[in-house]
Amino acid sequence: MKKFLFILIFICSCQNAFAFNIVYPKKNEVTINSPSTFFIGSAKHKDKFTINGESVNIHHSGGFAYVVPLKEGKNEFVISDGKDTKTYVITRPIAVSGGVYTPPKLVEYEGEKQFLTVVDNAPLRTSPIDSGINRMSHFEKDIPLTVDGEKSSFYRVVLGKNKKAWISKNNVKAFDGYSNSLALVSGYDYLDSPDYFTFVFHLDKKVPFEIVEGETFYLKFYNVKDCADNTYVFEFPYAEAAGTKKIVGYSGRFDGYDFIFKVRKFPKTDEKSPLKDMKIAVDAGHGGKESGAIGCCGDKEKDITLAISRYLKEELQKRGAKVIMTRNNDSYVGLKDRIDIANENDAMFLISIHGNALPDNADPNKHRGTSIYFYYNQAKLLAANVLISMNKQLGTQNDNIRQGSLALVRNTNALSILIEVAYLINPEDNAMLIDTKFQKKCAKAIADGLEEFFKN
Ligand SMILES: [Zn+2]
Repeated sequence: MKKFLFILIFICSCQNAFAFNIVYPKKNEVTINSPSTFFIGSAKHKDKFTINGESVNIHHSGGFAYVVPLKEGKNEFVISDGKDTKTYVITRPIAVSGGVYTPPKLVEYEGEKQFLTVVDNAPLRTSPIDSGINRMSHFEKDIPLTVDGEKSSFYRVVLGKNKKAWISKNNVKAFDGYSNSLALVSGYDYLDSPDYFTFVFHLDKKVPFEIVEGETFYLKFYNVKDCADNTYVFEFPYAEAAGTKKIVGYSGRFDGYDFIFKVRKFPKTDEKSPLKDMKIAVDAGHGGKESGAIGCCGDKEKDITLAISRYLKEELQKRGAKVIMTRNNDSYVGLKDRIDIANENDAMFLISIHGNALPDNADPNKHRGTSIYFYYNQAKLLAANVLISMNKQLGTQNDNIRQGSLALVRNTNALSILIEVAYLINPEDNAMLIDTKFQKKCAKAIADGLEEFFKN
């Protein structure tokens, strides 16, 4: 008990030592390679607070964001509130001139080489760059690939007669154990069940595949014989099967040489309570050792996301939904584990809650509002409905829906969206985010947006 009291006094005295607090930059001697950066923090003595003699605009919550230009070399900043002073030294590395950049060259092989994927979830890309949005497909382990060239850290993969794609050298190994002869698709079986359309395709070996979702929704197997362009194309019968172009979720994977393609049926919902019995995964961003962004007043993103997620759970349960939390306390959960939790519980929605931050070269005072990320088309309409509801009910600015290659929205089994509720490092937005009333309203607005999705 005595020890606890001692720690408490120690913490209090730490916070009282200064009447202002800087949360970013995190240390008073840092290297930042950018033409500008910003100080984020809070101050009590609003009128006397200055950075290098310039007065700083302090929000009524006490928070501030102040942009400073950086010259190459050392930049010194003296921060003062008339009583206390702190000095920050930010070093911007000096650019080295004269170096000539040589772009990586494509090397085309004489013949074709055989490779095998060695990791699960290996992304196949449309270009030899690790850029996120250029993903075509994700392969499990042991998918054989024919490769006919390389560029920087990628191999060029042969897909049928006319198509090429790229895979990271780290995700494959050379493999001579099979021939590059074409595969045979001998047909498929269709299994109907209350929740899924399931198609089981019979092949005589594993091949690279792609699932493309758009106006039409199709599955392609590459390097297959007796097909145009050595490509087997199966178009999902939207009209007959689903009677709607809304896809709730899907998965495709090999089971031996059979390929199981499962598409979730759009649920028949009760008009008055569309979320009744719906399985919804709520994902509070970050947690444990991973704080996420730090707000002006020192609040951590992981605490704000957990608070909103708990209110969202209550709000959804009130409407009859079955909620699965990927974390319910301040624990660290990996990105893959979060997706696994949603899928193991057969969640139809995956809603990930975050607060936004910005890179050094941006101005936090000029960025406000709610943005929602989706990756697959299936979730676009959901993102739009939730954003409209949040902007309307919370009065947050419209920071748009965005297609983004974030791990949590790349879950195809559910309608997956990631909500950046507002900017933690914008003083105005931050004041809202840490307000309990706002957090509760936010949960209601998200739940209403989900219901709107079914009405539309
Ligand atoms: Zn985050």
